[in-house]
Amino acid sequence: MILSITDNLKKVRESVAKAAVRSGRRSDDIKIVAVSKTHPTSYIKEAYDLGIKTFAENRVQEAAAKIPLLPPDIEWHLVGHLQTNKTKTAAENFSVIQSIDSIKLVTKLELDSAELDKKIDVLIQLDLAGEETKFGIPQEEFYGLCDYLLERCPHLNLTGLMCLPPYFTDTEKVRPYFVSLRKYFDEFNNKYSKKIKELSMGMSNDYEVAIEEGATIVRIGTAIFGDRNH
Ligand SMILES: *Cc1c(COP(=O)(O)O)cnc(C)c1O
Repeated sequence: MILSITDNLKKVRESVAKAAVRSGRRSDDIKIVAVSKTHPTSYIKEAYDLGIKTFAENRVQEAAAKIPLLPPDIEWHLVGHLQTNKTKTAAENFSVIQSIDSIKLVTKLELDSAELDKKIDVLIQLDLAGEETKFGIPQEEFYGLCDYLLERCPHLNLTGLMCLPPYFTDTEKVRPYFVSLRKYFDEFNNKYSKKIKELSMGMSNDYEVAIEEGATIVRIGTAIFGDRNH
């Protein structure tokens, strides 16, 4: 099948709107973040011309090579695991880091952001499945990380939570993970005077379920850009 980013994006926008209506929400309250990892800058430019202004990458080096070639008003999100030796490059290139998963990481990222005199929006990635292959902070360490971020990291602005559940072909099996992330979100907003507003959950396969459970950000790669194995 021939790739048409135009057709794909049209379908995604329609499905987002339908899922929003189904759950009594406004489609404007759900942000489509186009995950462009492995794809060429020509694809990104095409989606940009169709009105997508927020893109995500999962590797710092790949993103740092692509970002300077693209329009400067794009908002770049990092969604992949961030190693402490890459925090400086990450702080230089991204305005939002969704994959915050340890105190060690935010300590380093805070120092680099301070040095760049830059404030970065961050989301905490929660490990809800406890799988060895997945990243994210273990649930029992979540509030420790929240306290640390709020008290010790003036250059990091906590705006929300993210999760990357295991893959299921039956998307109903993913729903409990989204419900669980939503619970942490509500609990956070009850516990702290600082409020968060973003729930980043749902990918190509399951974003409609995620929207039904309250997602404000959906991270969509394949459904917009096609398969990643060019
Ligand atoms: C690749 C990736 C996505 C997008 O996945 P698709 O299934 O292609 O939509 C979303 N989130 C993260 C963290 C990813 O690494």
